[in-house]
Amino acid sequence: MRFADILGNDALKRRLAKMVDEDRLGHAVLLVEQEGMGAVAFAIALSQYLNCPDRSGGDSCGECSSCRRHSRLTYPDLHFAFPINTSAKLSDTEKKRPVCSYFLRDWSALIEENPYFDSHDLSDALGIENKAGAISVNEAKEIAGALSLQPYESQYKIMVVWQPEKMTTEAANKLLKLLEEPPEGTLFILVTQNVEKMLPTVLSRCQIIRLQPVERDDMAAILEAKYGLSKEDAMNYATLSAGSVGRAAALLKNAEEGSQLEDLTRGLLEAAQRRSLTDVLDIADTLSSLGKERSRQWCVFAEGFIRKMFITSKGLEAISFANPQEKEYINRMVPGIKETFYAKAAAALDSAIRLLEANVSAKLIFADLGNRFYLYI
Ligand SMILES: [Zn+2]
Repeated sequence: MRFADILGNDALKRRLAKMVDEDRLGHAVLLVEQEGMGAVAFAIALSQYLNCPDRSGGDSCGECSSCRRHSRLTYPDLHFAFPINTSAKLSDTEKKRPVCSYFLRDWSALIEENPYFDSHDLSDALGIENKAGAISVNEAKEIAGALSLQPYESQYKIMVVWQPEKMTTEAANKLLKLLEEPPEGTLFILVTQNVEKMLPTVLSRCQIIRLQPVERDDMAAILEAKYGLSKEDAMNYATLSAGSVGRAAALLKNAEEGSQLEDLTRGLLEAAQRRSLTDVLDIADTLSSLGKERSRQWCVFAEGFIRKMFITSKGLEAISFANPQEKEYINRMVPGIKETFYAKAAAALDSAIRLLEANVSAKLIFADLGNRFYLYI
């Protein structure tokens, strides 16, 4: 990861490079960000810059052996700690004493896929589901162990700690000792989104560096270039994302997923209305192949959409909460739909959700549901 690979915060990139060039980097840096700003990418780029023999113009070369191993997160002197819990991915022995090293593959894959990830993305990637992650005293022991060794090739051993505020008290006390008397050649890079939750004793040992939200115009330009959005859409998303690239990416993903749910709903209604059972069953097939959670999301979405149609059919368009595109569509569809359809379709969707939760075959559930739409409409 070069500084140039990270979107936004150009002044900060120059500042970090200058700190390295002028040898002003202490042994502990705390990067403070809002979720989705990509501070962990800065931590990696900083380590890469520090260790690159061919750095120039305020960035690492990206080509040398050290840079290439930084990109793959396999550089032997770059270590990571982050909040974890038990996960179905671990073996029974590992579950007894989970530590970050068991999750390194998932952690690296996540950073490679989306360096602007948030806590939710991390829990998903690690498979810890809804359990809260923590950095335990076992992890603190691993950190101390890694830092007690001589660096393999670098002058430094770099320890990136993501969300240090999630350390247990016992772990934080151990970390504090390391911060007070760091083993020689140690650089801690702590990354937090919740600086107010950090222990003042830890804070007082760190150089604090705050990431800035990306300016709205810059964010719009990034979104136009990276996601091919129109000027107007890019500006809208730039406003909504409040300067966080990760948040903008999440909003875009939601919009895209929402539009898939809407496309399938419309497709099913239209196929039923034009009396094509083949098309109805084709769409039912697609719905059953979405996976349980996504199929369930679709049922909830379709129910909401049908509710908007029902309210509109009663002449209460003003309280249907439909957006302008939906309104136009619904007004066009409603005259051709039986009055009894809405309640029956909603009940069929409720029943589909219950059956999905009871692990009945999705293929059967959606074939039956499609058939009901066909009959009721
Ligand atoms: Zn290099």
